[in-house]
Amino acid sequence: MSRQITLADGRTVKVDCLSCALTSGLIDSTGGVIYESKHFHVHQDVAYPIRGLVILASKRHFYCMDELSVEERLEYISLIHKIRSEQRLRLGIDKVYYFYNEDTTHHFHMWMVPRYEWMKQFGNSVESLRPVLLHARNKMNNEENMKTVIEGIEELWEGLREFESSEG
Ligand SMILES: [Zn+2]
Repeated sequence: MSRQITLADGRTVKVDCLSCALTSGLIDSTGGVIYESKHFHVHQDVAYPIRGLVILASKRHFYCMDELSVEERLEYISLIHKIRSEQRLRLGIDKVYYFYNEDTTHHFHMWMVPRYEWMKQFGNSVESLRPVLLHARNKMNNEENMKTVIEGIEELWEGLREFESSEG
């Protein structure tokens, strides 16, 4: 199923998979790339302005966890671990919700959604996730909040640079 996408420069392109277009750099993620490794791409979708929210997508097009190659598996877990560490160290994030499903129209990607106090009004666990994201999109899209979101992206960006140098 292909869809039409309008690029920043006004051109429109047809893509089969939004995640492929994003991880290959054909389209920019709003908020920019936080980190790019051999097999994965880390970004934040600022359409959902939550400080420290991260989307971790594979570069290769596949859907299921059991399709990860050995090399991808190792990179995946060490990347999640590093992102999570930086969320705690640099942004003081105490809890994270991880969301990932295999029946997606995009390919393999995981949301890492920080759990904040204000989210409790929407309940706990998986039931809270959609209302939380909608609340962020509809009610938190203001200059002040966006500033803290962008700062969060920059903090994670910096933290993950150190990951790169430590991994050689
Ligand atoms: Zn894809």
